[in-house]
Amino acid sequence: MFHAAVAEALVRADDVPLATHKFGGSSLADAACFRRVGAILRAQPAPRQVAVVSAMRGTTDALISLAEAAVRGSPDWRADWRRLRDRHLDTARDLVPDDAADALQWLESGFDQLASRLAALAVLGTPNREALESIQGLGETWSAHILSRFLARQGTDCGFLDAREVLVVGHGELGAVVDWSESARRLAEWRSRNTQHWTVVTGFVARTRAGHPTVLGRNGSDYSAAIFAALFEARELTIWGDTDGVLSADPRLVPDATPLPHLSYDEACELAYFGAKVIHPQTLTPVIARGLPVRIRNTFNPDHPGTAIGATPSSSTNGRPAATAGEHRVPPMPVKGISAVQDLAILTLEGAGMIGVPGTAERTFGALHRAGVSVVMISQGSSEHSICCVVRETDAAAAEIALTRAFEAEIARGDIHRVSVAGDIGVLAVVGDGMTGTPGVAARTFGALARTGVNIRAIAQGASERNISVAVARADTARALRAVHAAFWLSPQTLSIGLIGPGKVGAALLAQIEAARPRLLRDHQLDLRVRAVATSSRLWLGEARDAARWRESSDAACDLDAFTRHVQAEHLPHAVVIDCSASDTVAGRYADWLAAGIHVVTPNKHAGAGPSGRWRAIRAATANGSRFRYEATVGAGLPVISTLRDLLDTGDELLAAEGIFSGTLAWLFNRYDGSSPFSRLVREAHALGYTEPDPRDDLSGIDVARKLVILAREAGAGLELDDVAVESLVPESLRRLDAEAFMQRLDELDGAIAARFAAARAEGKVLRYVARLGEDGEASVGLVALPSGHAFAHLRLTDNVVQFTTRRYRDNPLVVQGPGAGPEVTAAGVFADLLRVAAALGARL
Ligand code: ADP
Ligand code: ASP
Ligand code: MG
Repeated sequence: MFHAAVAEALVRADDVPLATHKFGGSSLADAACFRRVGAILRAQPAPRQVAVVSAMRGTTDALISLAEAAVRGSPDWRADWRRLRDRHLDTARDLVPDDAADALQWLESGFDQLASRLAALAVLGTPNREALESIQGLGETWSAHILSRFLARQGTDCGFLDAREVLVVGHGELGAVVDWSESARRLAEWRSRNTQHWTVVTGFVARTRAGHPTVLGRNGSDYSAAIFAALFEARELTIWGDTDGVLSADPRLVPDATPLPHLSYDEACELAYFGAKVIHPQTLTPVIARGLPVRIRNTFNPDHPGTAIGATPSSSTNGRPAATAGEHRVPPMPVKGISAVQDLAILTLEGAGMIGVPGTAERTFGALHRAGVSVVMISQGSSEHSICCVVRETDAAAAEIALTRAFEAEIARGDIHRVSVAGDIGVLAVVGDGMTGTPGVAARTFGALARTGVNIRAIAQGASERNISVAVARADTARALRAVHAAFWLSPQTLSIGLIGPGKVGAALLAQIEAARPRLLRDHQLDLRVRAVATSSRLWLGEARDAARWRESSDAACDLDAFTRHVQAEHLPHAVVIDCSASDTVAGRYADWLAAGIHVVTPNKHAGAGPSGRWRAIRAATANGSRFRYEATVGAGLPVISTLRDLLDTGDELLAAEGIFSGTLAWLFNRYDGSSPFSRLVREAHALGYTEPDPRDDLSGIDVARKLVILAREAGAGLELDDVAVESLVPESLRRLDAEAFMQRLDELDGAIAARFAAARAEGKVLRYVARLGEDGEASVGLVALPSGHAFAHLRLTDNVVQFTTRRYRDNPLVVQGPGAGPEVTAAGVFADLLRVAAALGARL
């Protein structure tokens, strides 16, 4: 065991507490970053500090491409070499101006050496592993050198340790394997010669047993830091990066990822293994053996406590503070974080001849092992008909050959009928200690993926139940990650919304959404993002924060393709189109939107009352789980369709429906008493926004007829608009005018209405515009004279009323009644539908 060896070999100068830090490349991007690092170290309480450093940001990548360019014989490397050199020299000049000559000389000779090695590579023309590894690690020597000079200049007692003098590693299957006793012996020896209180150590680099410089693999400085924490017998290790600790997911893929206050070693290992770049997967091996606490913190926000990683499994609240009284309670969640690896491939071995044959799995994985292919994930159904595993895409070809060879005989006999490879795969890992024994985690994961339309290629869950891994198409990885992240309340449920037709209802809806947004976000983790607004002459595409400025957008033809592409953003899990237009063309798009996984919410009656073939196609397009909601098409904000649905879904049967479905016509006939012309009332209603943009849509009865068709179809009747007997209040002579001319000649309505009114009054009756769907299936809408005691005669203002006569409500019909027109109530009806869509997608409302 290494720590016995370490303890034996270490000659400790004293018992002063010692802390280890690691600063990543992002924390060492420029001179200002080095100053920040200096300030952090000076603020530490422990008198002894060991700082393990990465190369300055981007340096390792630059060195790798320099070496590649040199091997290719490309002359470009000299310009890049100079840029890298100048960047380092400038940083040193800035940080240690008075001591610059010495430091600069040291750096210059380092860069000269690099140039001669690159020139040698160019001559050789073949990559040589040793030369490449030694070049790759140079960045760490430069950054460590600059930092130690800078700290010394600031008056600290600071030394510089080139890890290659001390750290000896061999190469194992999982990467570098530390020779602990040799490394500890060398460090003890180094410490006996170097007694400074502070030490800056090069990360990433080491030496092989044969004495050649080597590196610990990309991002290996984290591992270096853990090794040196063990070797120096530090009390703690802090890894400083550019995020507030380990986040619940990669912030580049999930912008809403939140910092996790605690992680167990196991959780951190799973997340790191499955792609959380914030720590290198091997980092924790040395610290786990010692039980050393690790903290991940942000150099750019040193006041933030970051993430503490330790031995104990933690019950999770996902980083959210426990709710206080009166606050919306957020239940604890078993899932801590979600990570993703891409560039993978699925390898499948299939054949009936494998069923019940012992040793197939062993032979599969043995063959892969011998081919040097590491397996990321394994899944086998209990039928044993196929074995499937996920490997790195770069290993896929070798893996396929290895398996084809290993099962040559079975393939020839037909027992195994194929070995296949599917590339472009990503794997999502859902991780948390609390998942152990908690039912429902898998269901929630898969449900979230299904709702966002992501197909699952393979699934695996370790017996520890700490990790559920799901393979998906690489193109789906980001969306899948976001959807699952949102499903576990790690981030808000986000809906990307596009609104068409911001007229009176649309504008009211935008205002309602804007006003409700903060509360929905705070109390329900629901993030409604209006990202597109289209009118017939304008198109605004943007982000929710700018939505209020949609009116400033320049004129553009209503390009619904561009609109759709923007709304269905790759990075947002759910897309919704809200159609507040009165356009038949827009309704013509619904089926395509729904089929593409875009939910549709609308008060536009054209789809519901349009050709029944199109209506059926729209309904059929929801088979994939897309939601289509249109409550506000009948009775504005009143729960008319949902009431009918509830009746039908619980087994009731609609026998007849009757009512006043037009708030506009209700208002007109409630107000009309013959004392002033009907046309004056129509103008008033138009100005109040009670009518459709063209009042003939109301007066012609078509709007009411459409509502009747929608209700009839909801109840299963195959009614067409043409089947409804419609009585129009618009005289023949006014029907073909344009809207403006019609408004000018509105008083031509007055004579006929006045006559009908007088006749009804003579019988003690009132006029009402009524819609009827009879038991015989007959549908009609028109002006009728009702006894003054009739229920429909006592409505107020724009009230709608719908009477459902059903098997259960036969003698005494069920009545839904209330305000049925006006932008605010209609918008509220649409908004309620939008929230129902969100709830169906998993938002807790
Ligand atoms: P450093 O130079 O500090 O070592 P790296 O480039 O190696 O930084 O990796 C840090 C980056 O990893 C972060 O800036 C972040 O974008 C990304 N990352 C991926 N997954 C996570 C996660 N779960 N938590 C935090 N950061 C993550
Ligand atoms: N500089 C190395 C790399 O970029 C090691 C590290 O930063 O951790 O991979
Ligand atoms: Mg890193």
